Amino acid sequence: MPATHRSVRIDLDLSSDGVDLACLEVAAVDFARRAPGELVATAVQPMAGELFDVIIGPRAFPADDDAQPEAPWACTRCGNRRGFRRRGQRTGGRTVLTKAGRVRLAAWQVECRRCGRRYVPVLELLDVARHPR
Ligand SMILES: [Zn+2]
Repeated sequence: MPATHRSVRIDLDLSSDGVDLACLEVAAVDFARRAPGELVATAVQPMAGELFDVIIGPRAFPADDDAQPEAPWACTRCGNRRGFRRRGQRTGGRTVLTKAGRVRLAAWQVECRRCGRRYVPVLELLDVARHPR
């Protein structure tokens, strides 16, 4: 099973009057609010990258269309499931609201070689509706 490691730093200002309980509480609550969503995003990113490697082939060395296995996503225009190329990252990413909080995902694009459509399959891979829930 692949493992991921994520570190989260909490910065406290110790320069003036020291640290009081209220300051620690604010830092802890902020951490508790951000950490679950960041953990989900950290787990999803490498999974999507590894899946692109398996389906499309190594970065900069895509497999021939016929040599690619059927993708777990379908082209949003023609329904094609085989024959894709990576097309970089769309700015802004994709944000989804989960039980773990807001999760910002990188929006890696693929291009369908059959019809030329470019789109971001990560939400389909996660079985999330196109618009944030
Ligand atoms: Zn297509």
